[in-house]
Amino acid sequence: MAAFSRGRDWMKGFCFFRTLGHKRTLTGKFDYDLVVIGGGSGGLACSKEAALFGQKVAVLDYVEPSLKGTKWGLGGTCVNVGCIPKKLMHQAALLGTAAKDARKYGWQVPEALSHDWATMAQAVQNHVRSLNWGHRVQLQDKKVKYLNMKGSLIDEHSVRAVDAKGKQMTVTAKNIVLATGGRPKYPMHIPGAVEFGMTSDDVFWLKESPKKTLVVGASYVALECAGFLTGIGLDTTVMVRSIALRGFDQQMSGLVTDYMEAYGTKFIWKSTPKNIEKLSSGLLRVSWLDLNTREEHQETFNSVLWAVASLATDAIPFSIFHSSDAFRFRFNTATCSREQSRGRMEERKGGKEVDLLFEGDHKAPTVMVPLGKGRQTRLPLVISI
Ligand SMILES: Cc1cc2nc3c(=O)[nH]c(=O)nc-3n(C[C@H](O)[C@H](O)[C@H](O)COP(=O)(O)OP(=O)(O)OC[C@H]3O[C@@H](n4cnc5c(N)ncnc54)[C@H](O)[C@@H]3O)c2cc1C
Repeated sequence: MAAFSRGRDWMKGFCFFRTLGHKRTLTGKFDYDLVVIGGGSGGLACSKEAALFGQKVAVLDYVEPSLKGTKWGLGGTCVNVGCIPKKLMHQAALLGTAAKDARKYGWQVPEALSHDWATMAQAVQNHVRSLNWGHRVQLQDKKVKYLNMKGSLIDEHSVRAVDAKGKQMTVTAKNIVLATGGRPKYPMHIPGAVEFGMTSDDVFWLKESPKKTLVVGASYVALECAGFLTGIGLDTTVMVRSIALRGFDQQMSGLVTDYMEAYGTKFIWKSTPKNIEKLSSGLLRVSWLDLNTREEHQETFNSVLWAVASLATDAIPFSIFHSSDAFRFRFNTATCSREQSRGRMEERKGGKEVDLLFEGDHKAPTVMVPLGKGRQTRLPLVISI
């Protein structure tokens, strides 16, 4: 994630300073000095700062519902399906632990402590909605025009904006910033993954408890979700294909997973899911392959949460940069995946930082990856954070 963030930070920095580099020369040629596509942490910060510098700014934010149909308001991943709801759910878990500990400190806490998901979810969702509202008010206060519309580039100064009802308009701007973020990915090659699984885009908006849950993946998103699910008393298992917290210090990673195991999270190591079936009881039967023994195993769960990777939002139109600038990003090769023709993901080994040159258009972005000794190869771009 760090490498990806650095890349995005760099991009934001580049676009931002390019914007600020110009004096205010709005001559009526464009509707805005700056149009920002994406109203998440990056887009909101950028649009508000630019407005403070006297720029005429519009921000477009549009949430494509998750495959399960979950949708949310202004503020992007962090506010709606990331940092904020996650931290509140962690707090719910910590309170449970504290309540149990409190007995030893003299508090008369009932023996049978139970947790009600619906109450927690309602409170979390209400808080997130209040933040959605707060962000709208901040934009209004700073005179940033908020358009709840999906943007795509027509050319380097024009954005096509489409609302939920299909109404279209074109907005023009001297500068355009892309801050469209990313969304969790499903492993499309696993039968039942989409029909019966969910992602972090859904878990925070569930009205009912996910109950016994299998979390597939070992990213920070996977471990954090597994952590709070365990903490509120749910039977939770994490399935790890190779190592936990790739890209992080592996000694620390070991401490994290040891701690989680000690607190009740189960781990299935070196294994990969093969398929998910829904039984007549409503339970999900997950079959997986142990990559060490090559044996197949099965177990039933109430929910399966995929936390296998995130994809850059498909609306990112790289073509503008291709045609104008030789736009270079820094990415860590460990986070740059190769999509094979079979559609299977294969992670590139190593963690060397390289410059990658984006090419292609927004439907088929590619990167030129240096292979050393002057050789390079063109790969479809898949970003995992
Ligand atoms: C479960 C989870 C926990 C996390 N916890 C933390 C944490 O504790 N600390 C931390 O620093 N980070 C955390 N993160 C990461 C953090 O949420 C992201 O790094 C951050 O939200 C990225 O901000 P962004 O502005 O780049 O993109 P986003 O927040 O994803 O915002 C992009 C916005 O653009 C919209 N959009 C996309 N395409 C278009 C389009 N064509 N037109 C209009 N709008 C569009 C999207 O709907 C979205 O609203 C977490 C992430 C997850 C998933």
